[in-house]
Amino acid sequence: MAKTPFLSLEKAKEIIAEYPTPFHIYDEKGIRDNVKALVDAFSWNKGYKEYFAVKATPNPFLMKILQEYGCGCDCSSKTELMLAKSIGAMGDDIMFSSNDTPVEEFAMCNELGGIINLDDITHIELVEKACGKLPEKMSCRYNPGGVFVLTNGIMDNPGDAKYGMTKEQLFEAFSVMRDKGVKEFGIHSFLASNTVTNEYYPELAKVLFNLAVEVKEKLGIIVSFINLSGGIGIPYKPDETPNDIKAIGEGVRKVYDEVLVKNGIDGVSIFTELGRYMMGPYGAVVTTAINEKHIYKEYIGVDACAVNLMRPAMYGAYHHISVLGKEKDECTEVYDITGSLCENNDKFAVDRKLPKISIGDILFIHDTGAHGFSMGYNYNGKLKSAELLLKEDGSVQLIRRAETPKDYFATFDCFDFYSDLIEE
Ligand SMILES: *Cc1c(COP(=O)(O)O)cnc(C)c1O
Repeated sequence: MAKTPFLSLEKAKEIIAEYPTPFHIYDEKGIRDNVKALVDAFSWNKGYKEYFAVKATPNPFLMKILQEYGCGCDCSSKTELMLAKSIGAMGDDIMFSSNDTPVEEFAMCNELGGIINLDDITHIELVEKACGKLPEKMSCRYNPGGVFVLTNGIMDNPGDAKYGMTKEQLFEAFSVMRDKGVKEFGIHSFLASNTVTNEYYPELAKVLFNLAVEVKEKLGIIVSFINLSGGIGIPYKPDETPNDIKAIGEGVRKVYDEVLVKNGIDGVSIFTELGRYMMGPYGAVVTTAINEKHIYKEYIGVDACAVNLMRPAMYGAYHHISVLGKEKDECTEVYDITGSLCENNDKFAVDRKLPKISIGDILFIHDTGAHGFSMGYNYNGKLKSAELLLKEDGSVQLIRRAETPKDYFATFDCFDFYSDLIEE
């Protein structure tokens, strides 16, 4: 099975004539169709809201597209809050789900009117100090500990994760927060990442809905929102079955009725903080084959490297690769596809069956729309690429220019090395 690139070879060539490789490109139509389907799948819940996890793809142009469908921003740092502000998000459009938080960032979130999602009970005091008093609407992040096992066997280890509070702490936090004037409460949890199963959200919802029932019984507090956070995955491999968002929304609705409504709780808003699911499949790295090497293995060197896409180097993550114009060719070769970093893990693919690649061929690395560009760095003095948007009408918009050496030298401005360099 294969994946279909959202660019043809002709289109890619046309774009490259203006914007040289490597670059990230995003598919506006894909993004819009996907967010529409998400919002529709949760339309049974009156207060439903997706807070896009900004860290996945921190680009205001893309965030603005999601904003058109009512999405807010899930931020966890100062600059992510600034990104939210840059698109005019404020108040309930901002969720601040941070951890190990510098105290001034609580103040910044509060100034924007965003919702602070507390990672730890000790942060109550910090928020009070930063904001003068606690905001009226707040949420707490829950960590059930132990091992979270889905019915299909997918497992994660909340007990080893640094996030969230224990149940006892959460009850105590709510009680203290109520005494200090909080009026609207939310609960949040993130228990597994990149789940390619329709069961994750409903099972997580069951955990959080049951917790909400306990909160009502123990404290008499009825939570106003429950935040299922991120974690819905995408099929990176061509043989994986994509999630069915309609079935996921329906699964959560069923548990909502079974647990919340049955226990006399209703009118609770469901929030999500999806990142990967919103953007992953709708971004790609486009890169040119610039070298081939035949030693103990066959290598194709491309002009992108792990600086543009770190996931394969960092997690051994699979990203499907298409050779544009050769989509239908037989995969007769076995290659390692490498970048140029002086690190042996700088490989986009290892032992990958691909059609015969010639120098100058254009490779389309799939599913890089989330946690792709955003994880970029400057190792080996490499510069970050441009980001482009393939618009619905077929035109292409530059939504972030590529870095230049001047950007790289900018933080040495106290010494002004760069002006000497350009004089040479
Ligand atoms: C990373 C993150 C998300 C998004 O996760 P995805 O797997 O991209 O959906 C959501 N919420 C929080 C708090 C996160 O840290």
